[in-house]
Amino acid sequence: MPLRLVLYGDPILRTKGAEIARVDDAIRDLAARMITTMRAHRGVGLAAQQVGRALMLCVVDVREVERPSQLFLGGREVPVESMMPLTLINPRLEPTPGSEEGSEGCLSFPGLSAPVTRAASVRLAALGLDGRPLALLATGFLARAIQHEVDHLNGVLFIDRMTPEARRPLEAEIRRIERDTKAGLKKRRRH
Ligand code: ZN
Repeated sequence: MPLRLVLYGDPILRTKGAEIARVDDAIRDLAARMITTMRAHRGVGLAAQQVGRALMLCVVDVREVERPSQLFLGGREVPVESMMPLTLINPRLEPTPGSEEGSEGCLSFPGLSAPVTRAASVRLAALGLDGRPLALLATGFLARAIQHEVDHLNGVLFIDRMTPEARRPLEAEIRRIERDTKAGLKKRRRH
């Protein structure tokens, strides 16, 4: 069963995730349900905050996207598909020099997309689902997707990364989503 998606306006999206002390079955189960939820919404990534949990946990799957990506493990290139879906626990990013502009969307902002400039590639250290350390280098769309998700884990949203020019035409819709979400939260609290 997919989990309920959290939309913009819910304060949890601005909450930094807690480090995960132990990768246990509860975390593996949450990750599996997040992957189901991401797929149900045809997303390429999902952070724990987007299903209502402020934890350092996100999932990514770029297989359906035509934009190119590369992935290196221990300095050797591996097929991107071989690591998808990718679950990242307590990820730490190190952007490498060079940036790239590309179009982005977010499941917490249905229907919105805009260009966002990000590092063209990233080095990443995290724990995998088996609790073992994982070190990788990603480029292209995968690097973008990872940066977007790790931002979520720190309470940062893609609207924060847009230029004022890119954001201005979306402002009314951003406010509408925020208003609807807050109204929904109030209603749920009353019942
Ligand atoms: Zn997002």
